[in-house]
Amino acid sequence: MVRVDLSRRAVLAGAASGVLLAAGGARAQGAPLNVVATTAHVGDLVRNVGGDRVRVANLLGEGVDPHSYRLTRSDTAQLMRADVVAYNGLLLEGKMTDALVRVASAGKTVFAVADALPEGLLNSPPETEGSFDPHVWMDVKNWIAAAGVVRDRLSARDPAGAAAYAANAARHVAELEVLDAYARRVLGAVPETARVLITAHDAFNYLGRAYGLEVRGIQGISTESEAGLREIEGLVDLLVARRIGAVFVESSVTDRNVRALVEGAAARGHKVAIGGELYSDALGAPGTYEGTYIGMMDHNLTTIARALGGEAPVAGHLGRLAQAR
Ligand SMILES: [Zn+2]
Repeated sequence: MVRVDLSRRAVLAGAASGVLLAAGGARAQGAPLNVVATTAHVGDLVRNVGGDRVRVANLLGEGVDPHSYRLTRSDTAQLMRADVVAYNGLLLEGKMTDALVRVASAGKTVFAVADALPEGLLNSPPETEGSFDPHVWMDVKNWIAAAGVVRDRLSARDPAGAAAYAANAARHVAELEVLDAYARRVLGAVPETARVLITAHDAFNYLGRAYGLEVRGIQGISTESEAGLREIEGLVDLLVARRIGAVFVESSVTDRNVRALVEGAAARGHKVAIGGELYSDALGAPGTYEGTYIGMMDHNLTTIARALGGEAPVAGHLGRLAQAR
């Protein structure tokens, strides 16, 4: 979790809106807008809303952690060549924020989709007083709101495309509404006592809030310290008491802590499975279904629902998940 500096947030918003006014109409007639996005989530959203009026490149590839990523010299050059820079914000891109501010002040359209969401949609966890959880995409309703942000920002930069952006956004929102309904259906079918999502990362709080799961992370727990062992023992108590059948791993976290949970529960006569690997801060491989926002969420929702005793088709809500092949 990173701390949000609200004054910086205001500076970025101000810089971006000023630039919008200054930079409109500089593009050659008919050429697509050259958009650089930070995360693949944001890139996917801009691609869906922008359609053939944009050409989108993502800075962060498969499996790259946006919290710790530092821009390379060529990234910065790519940002400076872009017509539009789109990023998540709320300091998800913690080590890139200063560079993004510099790009915004250099006369470019720069916007952050999560920064622009109404505060009522944002989580502000008690342990990080005054800051917002940046992992907004885990609630599909938030991503629907984010589609509206992208539509408005692209329309301001490229007014001739406003009707196309509105039509594309409406089409994508309809797809996202279907995904959201799927989330409610399959996670709603998880038995009441099993509605606990134990992962190794702090990225799933919006998903838990939206779809009625209690979320417990084991990140930060060290099995080598007494405190860590006590924390793991507490999670084992929870697994046994609630008869929870599965815990989840993700690629950026050692599975040692997860194995300690499984072994601790087994020692007390309760069998816990590794429910699968979830996508947290990166999408799957480019060019695959899981490399899109919808495919990534479908994978997570389907994996969670099936592992916790709910009912979901193995191939997901569109029959496209790789795990079924
Ligand atoms: Zn994260």
